Amino acid sequence: MYKPTRGIIEAAPLTVDDARAQIESRRFDHIGGHWSRAFRPTADVQVWVREVFADCMSDNGIFSLFAPEMGDIEGDIIGWALDLMTGPADATGNITNGGSESIYCAMHAARNWARANRPGVKTPTIVVPRTAHPAYWKACEYLGMEIKRVPVTAEDRADPVAMEAAIDENTIALVGSAPSWPLGMFDPIEDLAAVAVKHDLWMHVDGCIGGYILPFLEMLGEDIPRWDFRVDGVRSISADLHKFGYTPKPCSTILWRDEELLQYHLFEVTESASGPYLTTAMAGSRSEAPVFTQWALIRTLGREGYLEQAKAVMRAKQELMTGIEAIDGLSVPYTDLFPLSVEAVHENLLLIYQGMAAKGWVLLGVPDPPILTLPLDPALAGEVAERFLADLAEATAAAPTEGEGVGGALRYG
Ligand SMILES: *Cc1c(COP(=O)(O)O)cnc(C)c1O
Repeated sequence: MYKPTRGIIEAAPLTVDDARAQIESRRFDHIGGHWSRAFRPTADVQVWVREVFADCMSDNGIFSLFAPEMGDIEGDIIGWALDLMTGPADATGNITNGGSESIYCAMHAARNWARANRPGVKTPTIVVPRTAHPAYWKACEYLGMEIKRVPVTAEDRADPVAMEAAIDENTIALVGSAPSWPLGMFDPIEDLAAVAVKHDLWMHVDGCIGGYILPFLEMLGEDIPRWDFRVDGVRSISADLHKFGYTPKPCSTILWRDEELLQYHLFEVTESASGPYLTTAMAGSRSEAPVFTQWALIRTLGREGYLEQAKAVMRAKQELMTGIEAIDGLSVPYTDLFPLSVEAVHENLLLIYQGMAAKGWVLLGVPDPPILTLPLDPALAGEVAERFLADLAEATAAAPTEGEGVGGALRYG
């Protein structure tokens, strides 16, 4: 935890140049911070994305329900998302500030649906595979719910039999990921949804990382298990635009099978001095800059452009996997999609992580069992990938097999 810096109010103002220089020195290195910063499109696209984002930086999405022009922009994006994820005719969705917020919206709706339809429930409880994202634990804490964590199969996928066995009279929802973070494995959504239908539970699919790339990979002929609204019983899907939609953070979507399910989430305040107050997400004010930028990406890249970006991601995956496997002491365990995991066969992974940090690479990781987590994006090509692999080879060769080291621990957030 950082310490608050007191006394800045008394300090002499900096010039803008000095302020910018200080910011530059505090930001992650442009190349080394690659994975912990953003899911970026190819370099040619990044150039104009930056400009559109700056044009719209002051726009406030709090008005999206009531300002027709802004609403139309969001309507276009949600419509595009529903086309990609095969939403039925009366499916709908709303924009949020990120995957975690989309998950809170879904869990909020599930809780309110249960209040209306499952009067016997005392403590609303969700059943999740061990590999579910930490946001579900946060959501339950915020919403006064309980979470039951169920072991996964030997392949690190949700186990429908174990999930069904964990259901009791308080269970209101099941969760599966397509794919999971950080292991990149598809949960068997069809089997989980069948269990949800059988017990009349809310089925939520976490498509935060997969949502905006799986439909394009499917168009490219990749074998993707069914995970979207084609699966009966799936009521909501979270999918992050600030991942493979390629807009800068913060931006995500929560999609609902029908309008009625969205109504369980929306909450209008009528009694405050502000008068009637209704926003789509958990947030009040939120930046519309990533939303307008997302619209520009959708309309400019088009289907072909998104297919090209998806191909670039898969090329990056191949290049990195081959490069890492060639480094003595490292391996990349199987994953259905990504992020990639990197394991140290004999070496001490924490010390490799710290060696990479010393070279300016800010990586994500998991402590137990230790892995480095590498998300992929289309900007990860050529020179960046080569520098990463060269540094990783050096850090691995230099890492002793024992010891704690200093310079940070393997973690995600
Ligand atoms: C990224 C991610 C989230 C959380 O998203 P944030 O945008 O970081 O809040 C949730 N689930 C999965 C599977 C993710 O990949």
